[in-house]
Amino acid sequence: MQLPIYLDHNATTPVDPRVFEAMAPYFTKAFGNPSSRGHVFGWEAEAAVDAAREAVARAMNASSKEIVFTSGATESDNLAVFGVARLHRETGGHVITASTEHPAVLDACRQLEREGFSVTFLAPEKGTGEIAPESVAETITDRTLLVSLMLANNEIGTIHRIAAIGAICRERGVLFHTDAVQGFGKIPFDVAAMNVDLASITAHKIYGPKGTGALYVRARHPHVRLQPLLFGGGHERGLRSGTLNVPGIVGLGKAAEIAVAEIPEESRRLRLLRRRLHDGITARLDGVVLNGAALPGSEPDGALVAGVADRRLPGNLNVSFAGVDGEALLAGMKDVAVSTGSACTSASLAPSHVLTSIGVPKELAHASMRFGLGRWNTAEEVDYAVETVVRAVQRLREKSPLAQASSR
Ligand code: PLP
Repeated sequence: MQLPIYLDHNATTPVDPRVFEAMAPYFTKAFGNPSSRGHVFGWEAEAAVDAAREAVARAMNASSKEIVFTSGATESDNLAVFGVARLHRETGGHVITASTEHPAVLDACRQLEREGFSVTFLAPEKGTGEIAPESVAETITDRTLLVSLMLANNEIGTIHRIAAIGAICRERGVLFHTDAVQGFGKIPFDVAAMNVDLASITAHKIYGPKGTGALYVRARHPHVRLQPLLFGGGHERGLRSGTLNVPGIVGLGKAAEIAVAEIPEESRRLRLLRRRLHDGITARLDGVVLNGAALPGSEPDGALVAGVADRRLPGNLNVSFAGVDGEALLAGMKDVAVSTGSACTSASLAPSHVLTSIGVPKELAHASMRFGLGRWNTAEEVDYAVETVVRAVQRLREKSPLAQASSR
C-alpha cells in the first residue's frame, strides 16, 4: 500500500493509463487541427474527434451530432443555462434550479437574475437532499424556459429522480438541463429514457484529463437551440468556437467508454468499500452523523442487501464528526486525502451551501468530511483510512472537553 491514499474522487480523478495511452499520439505525431481539411494531419485529427464524439454519444444513448465539446463542465453548464435563457428571453424569463446545485449552475442563474430573468431556487428535502419531482411540477409556470437540476450531488452524492423530472418537463414543454458530471460513468444515464434535453459532463471526474468536457444538446423532439458563449471560427456547429482540444477529446471519449462499460462491477465494488469505511468508523466512534441519503445495507458475506434503493453515488460518503472542526481534522490526517465540503468552493470558509440546504446545523457542517472512493482504492486502503480518521477524531476530542461525551 502506497501513501498518501487518495479518497477524494468527487473532486477529481487520476487519468486511467488506458486513457493516457489513447491520448498520447495526439500530442506529438497526430497533432493536426481537425479544421484543416486540406491534408492528412487534419483528417487524422478529425477522425479521432469523430470517434470520440461517437463514444461519448453512445455512453449516454445520444447521437454524435448532439455532442458539443467544451473546456469542461463549468463551460457546459454556462452554455446550457445562458444559451437557453438568452435566446428565449422574449418568451418569458423564468428558470428553475435548486439551492444544492454546483456553483457553475448556481452562479450562472444568479447572473441571469441580474440580467432580469427570474429564477426559482428549489429547496431540497431535509436530510436526503433529494429534489421532489412534484416541487418541480408545482413551480413550472407558462413563463418557465428551463429547469436545471443535477443528476447527482457532488458533496453528498444524492442521486436525483432525473427520469421523473424529465417526464414532467417534457409534458409541460419546458427544456430540461442536467449537470450530469458526478453521475455520468458511475450510474446509468440515458438522455432518451430520461427525457433530458441538455446534459453537462467533464472528463476529469471519470479518469480522463482536466479541461475537457461536453454538452449534450438534443437535436430532435425538441430541437434545442442555444445562443453561444464564444464566437469565432464557428466550430462545433457554431455553438462553441475555438480550435478543438484533440488529445483531451480523445481522452474524454476513451474515459466515457471505459467508465460506462465498468458501471455494473465497479459500482458494486465501491458500495462494498464504502460500507466498510462507514461501518469501520461508526464501530469505533460515537457522534458520527451521515449527511445525505441512507446507505444500502450489506449482508455478512459482503453481498449488498437486494432491493434497498440506493439514492447515493456508489463511492460517496459524507459524514460529520460532532465536536470536531473539519479543517483541524484534515490537518490531522495528512496521508489520507479527503475534503471538507466541496473542493470547488473550499476556498471560502462559509459552511457548505449543500449541507446547510439539507438542514445540517452549522457546527456539524463545519465538522463534515467527504470521502470519494474510486477505481484503484482497495479494502486495505479503506482500513488504513478508518484507523487514521478514528485516531484523528479521538485526538481532537480529547483536546476539547465539550466533545468528550461523543468519543468512545
Ligand atoms: N458540476 C459538478 C456537479 C461538479 O462536481 C463540478 C466539479 O468541479 C463541475 C460542475 C465543474 O466541472 P469542471 O471542473 O469540468 O469545470
